[in-house]
Amino acid sequence: MSKTIIVANWKMNPVTWREAKKLFESTKKAVEKTKNSSVIVAPPVIFLRGLSGTYRGSRVAFAVQNGHFKTNGAHTGEISLAQSKDAHASYVIIGHVERRASGETNDDAGKKAAGALALKMIPILCVGESERTESGEQFNVVREQIRAGLADVPASALGRVILVYEPLWTIGTNTTMNPSEMHQMAIFMRKCVVETHGGGGRALKILYGGGVDGKSAEVMLREGDVCGFLVGRASLNASEFAKLLQAIENV
Ligand code: PEP
Repeated sequence: MSKTIIVANWKMNPVTWREAKKLFESTKKAVEKTKNSSVIVAPPVIFLRGLSGTYRGSRVAFAVQNGHFKTNGAHTGEISLAQSKDAHASYVIIGHVERRASGETNDDAGKKAAGALALKMIPILCVGESERTESGEQFNVVREQIRAGLADVPASALGRVILVYEPLWTIGTNTTMNPSEMHQMAIFMRKCVVETHGGGGRALKILYGGGVDGKSAEVMLREGDVCGFLVGRASLNASEFAKLLQAIENV
């Protein structure tokens, strides 16, 4: 049985290095009490090397929350995927809705996904609509995000890609999407990838994100056709994160 993938997206938290070390210690302890989860921590990049450089275990991997696809150059304020890899990030979150809201386009996401794979990093490509409409517009939005995000990803690399469905209307709320609707969306997402990349799309790894906690995770994992979660707030609270990991341990 493959492990449940949990991406702990710390976003722009915590404020100090001291707090980051403490949060990482408690995250590590929670992970060590489980057998069936594969946990990827995405700290603010300023804390990345400090955490990854002292971590001696193998149960936690590191991600960056963004990365520039060019290796280096005149891009003030940016950090490249290559620099992130050098600081031991093996995953990168791409197209998170909060980055899309500040201007990241579908095409940017595509360049980052291809750039990550070229460096042997794993892209975690986030897709999802900002609102639901009666006409089902969300399906067109998601289809286009997937098409552009995977445009330069060869079919042979699909096994190294993680897709996350995160509808904006559940992120940062206490509302988790209905698992049967997630199941329907997962089928649709796989169909989109099969259309562009062939049969390998059927084995795509799909995570859900948005309002996940210890209460909602178990049923979503059982019924939502997903193999894990991208977790925001619950990853910042040590006991909440430990509860989440325990809740899904035997699903
Ligand atoms: C997110 O921002 O990607 C997210 C899933 O946040 P939360 O878990 O807090 O809803």
